[in-house]
Amino acid sequence: MTQQRKIIYDIICKSPLHMTAEQIYAEAKRMRPSIAMGTVYRNLGLMAEAGEILRIEMPGRPDHFDKTVAPHHHCVCLKCGAVSDVPIPDLTELLEKHIGSPVTGYDLTVHVLCENCKE
Ligand SMILES: [Zn+2]
Ligand SMILES: [Zn+2]
Repeated sequence: MTQQRKIIYDIICKSPLHMTAEQIYAEAKRMRPSIAMGTVYRNLGLMAEAGEILRIEMPGRPDHFDKTVAPHHHCVCLKCGAVSDVPIPDLTELLEKHIGSPVTGYDLTVHVLCENCKE
């Protein structure tokens, strides 16, 4: 892993929220002012492809990046667009019970107002 890639990976791992490429770039630039935007975007793409991080795609919103690569669910704030994890168990069995057929996967995005936007 190159040093730049390690910086990017550390930023993603330390963040409690899931960050956009733009937010990751801003943070990387703070730590290493010489880092180029293209480097950050390219490394994010490579790491997502290699399965080291997860790219979360949401229609109409920028991609977010996640250190947790195992399948899990997200909630997105309607107001500020912050993305975080939904701490619920896997729903496959429940869905199969209701649907009556094998479930091979599902997409779930929960829309919320986050802590900051609640008031
Ligand atoms: Zn919010
Ligand atoms: Zn996540």
